[in-house]
Amino acid sequence: KFDVLIVGAGHGGAQAAIALRQNKFEGSIALLGDEPELPYERPPLSKEYLSGEKAFERLLIRNAAFWEERQVAMLSGRTVTAVDPVAHHVTADGETIGYGRLIWATGGKPRRLSCDGHDLAGIHTVRTRADVDQMVAELDGVTYVAVVGGGYIGLEAAAVLAKLGKQVTVLEAQDRVLARVAGEALSRFFEAEHRAHGVDVRLGVQVEAIEGEASVTGVRLAGGEVIPADMAIVGIGIVPAVEPLLAAGAAGGNGVLVDDQSRTSLPDIFAIGDCALHVNRYAADSAIRLESVQNANDQATVAAKTICGVEAGYDAVPWFWSNQYDLKLQTVGISAGHHDVVVRGDTATRSFSLIYLRAGRVIALDCVNAVKDYVQGRKLVVEGLVLDPVALADTSVPLKELVA
Ligand code: FAD
Repeated sequence: KFDVLIVGAGHGGAQAAIALRQNKFEGSIALLGDEPELPYERPPLSKEYLSGEKAFERLLIRNAAFWEERQVAMLSGRTVTAVDPVAHHVTADGETIGYGRLIWATGGKPRRLSCDGHDLAGIHTVRTRADVDQMVAELDGVTYVAVVGGGYIGLEAAAVLAKLGKQVTVLEAQDRVLARVAGEALSRFFEAEHRAHGVDVRLGVQVEAIEGEASVTGVRLAGGEVIPADMAIVGIGIVPAVEPLLAAGAAGGNGVLVDDQSRTSLPDIFAIGDCALHVNRYAADSAIRLESVQNANDQATVAAKTICGVEAGYDAVPWFWSNQYDLKLQTVGISAGHHDVVVRGDTATRSFSLIYLRAGRVIALDCVNAVKDYVQGRKLVVEGLVLDPVALADTSVPLKELVA
């Protein structure tokens, strides 16, 4: 039995263990996860790790010595399939492991295609090191890559593979890329960037089947057109890995519902990160899941402090980044539900910001190669300032000067 058992050894799980020790927690801690590795950073998987610029060792959140010194037991390569909230134990690969407090930090599993041919060799998702290692091992023989899904992960992978000289096609069902997470101006900007780098961006297309005998040879679209592909990358979102908790009676659905101390509805069970459905003030107080390192880390810290009896409440401003080619996108706030967008700067210069307003208030910024706007714009979002759109668009005035 462990005083704190953390299930899921990713960003949130690792940070929860770190924060427990930082807050002087002296009980036993175990970090259990289904991957074989020590906790590592996931964002580089579609960026510098896929491109080969960063070796795996540089992705580790902490090295083995750190975990040993902090006396965090690593239970790697194990999968929790059931939780008994009354007995206070979980079942992992047939073994029962008791807990005092349980922190559920399982993230999500990539959504897969269900069409004909969805299980052919050469079809990949990008969630784990193993996924990317498998992809890289196959890359040599690959000329044509079809990326299904024009979200951040699909676009980042497309950028790396285009730079590696592959013929890449992005297949997006909506009429623009990044439709779920960004305003139209950003979508159009990234579509143009990818096209300028030789990527064929196809919008409003439906994947009907993956073609091939043993291995993928093409992607068939509704209407019959076949896009040639020796590799397909599927980036169509994740399904939160919460079944054992929901089966144990936790409130939730698309994720496990938590309060602002990261507590689930079950006693002594917390949930954090991609799998945690929470009411977020930056999303107009609606219940959402955030899929970001920031959210995983901040919810982990709140859960750890709560366990240590230190007062804490989750109220962090969401932030996120994405690297494609030489473009560094940084976002702060949540733009969904905006009424107006101010374009600050000229998109043609490849350095600009989009400032999103709802009822006149600044709710989010997407900053492309515009670090100053990102840093200074944060305050506008945190304070929900009502500002003149003309002033916001004026690049001769730094954003910080607009704060009274
Ligand atoms: P994870 O880090 O996914 O960790 C969950 C762990 O739990 C995994 O190891 C999983 O296998 C394991 N697990 C699941 N179920 C079980 C079970 N039943 N038993 C045991 N173990 C289990 N975010 C950013 O902010 N910026 C970025 O640029 C960015 N880029 C990304 C690029 C890629 C390719 C990916 C995949 C994600 C990216 N993200 C990015 C998102 C970010 O990585 C996630 O939000 C973050 O990892 C969430 O942390 P987590 O602890 O909730 O889940």
